[in-house]
Amino acid sequence: MANVIVVAGAGVSGLTSALLLSRNKANKITVVAKHMPGDYDIEYASPWAGANVLPMADEENSRWERRTWPELKRLTEEVPEAGIHFQKARVYRRVKDEEANYSDTLFHSNPWYKSVLPDYRELSQEEVIPGHDSGCEFTSVCINTVIYLPWLLSQCVKNGVVFKRAVLSNIQDAKLLSHTGQPADIIINATALGSLKLGGVKDMAMIPARGQVVVVRNECSPMVATSGTDDGETEMAYIMQRALGGGTILGGTYDMGNWESVPDPNIAVRIMQRAVRVAPELAGGKGIEGLSVIRHGVGLRPNRKGGVRIEDEVLEDGTSVVHNYGHAGWGYQGSYGCAERVVELVDEIQRRN
Ligand code: FAD
Repeated sequence: MANVIVVAGAGVSGLTSALLLSRNKANKITVVAKHMPGDYDIEYASPWAGANVLPMADEENSRWERRTWPELKRLTEEVPEAGIHFQKARVYRRVKDEEANYSDTLFHSNPWYKSVLPDYRELSQEEVIPGHDSGCEFTSVCINTVIYLPWLLSQCVKNGVVFKRAVLSNIQDAKLLSHTGQPADIIINATALGSLKLGGVKDMAMIPARGQVVVVRNECSPMVATSGTDDGETEMAYIMQRALGGGTILGGTYDMGNWESVPDPNIAVRIMQRAVRVAPELAGGKGIEGLSVIRHGVGLRPNRKGGVRIEDEVLEDGTSVVHNYGHAGWGYQGSYGCAERVVELVDEIQRRN
């Protein structure tokens, strides 16, 4: 018997869920979304991400990131057209950020991910950049989201997934949008920040974490992330070079509750100043005048108070929904782990029904 599934949302969460579900030929899958790969919109977080792998979860919640790394590594090694390349990452810590930012596992000195990501080592004092107290280095990846999102879509299409544009006012509307013409047995909700206002979900725990970036032509390796800046609590310093000529992303901000879609020029200048300070070689030692800007951008990370929501629910009319939203700043680095859980939940529902 065919399992009719409609996935709501075509960001990295919806696309990865659809891809893993489509490996079961009995699943007939339709993806419906307001925004699709190729779009740039403030309501669509995925294109704005760097995106790299810098683990954030504590050990207890590390499943999503742990389970994602092997697949991203495999794609990097075996599928160059997916638009991912290996990059060394250097993380610099300041003691004064301990209270504010050390809750992020990334900045711990003995993190769980040291046995997952290759080549982990503590930096010697000579390798730590001025103004910082310690640091570490490991091998990570950087995903060119401009290439990777269409690639994910193409892999879904290859497996028979059908894509449709639709704006849902209620999650239940997805039930009647399957390309099969039959009502869906299961809906996957991957609408991210859309879940705040989507009827039938209206999750008040959803809140944007605004991220402003500058994309430049300059190249820079290794990637860099620092534990804090002196420019205010919402400002960050990170650099990552995308694969396949995708430019280098300079970040950034993490501004909770801020919905502003227009890049702030003052923030942009501070982002560029911090970038050339932590990696002067980025601009050939010329300061921000040595940067060649491709564009300024803003994305809203789909943050959820209390953490990601991956669980199933039965709607009043008996339709099952599997939620997969609220990935904040780790949607790519947790994408396969979360989608794998979606598949498990769908399998459990199918066994029950
Ligand atoms: P989205 O990409 O927002 O997709 C939501 C989908 O739902 C869209 O298709 C939208 O149209 C659809 N939708 C919503 N409401 C409706 C509706 N009512 N009807 C129909 N469709 C609807 N992550 C990393 O792993 N590594 C990084 O380095 C990284 N860097 C980041 C840097 C920045 C500046 C930002 C902004 C984010 C970054 N992230 C990073 C986080 C990552 O981008 C997100 O976690 C991820 O993109 C979330 O994907 P998603 O599919 O859940 O949501």
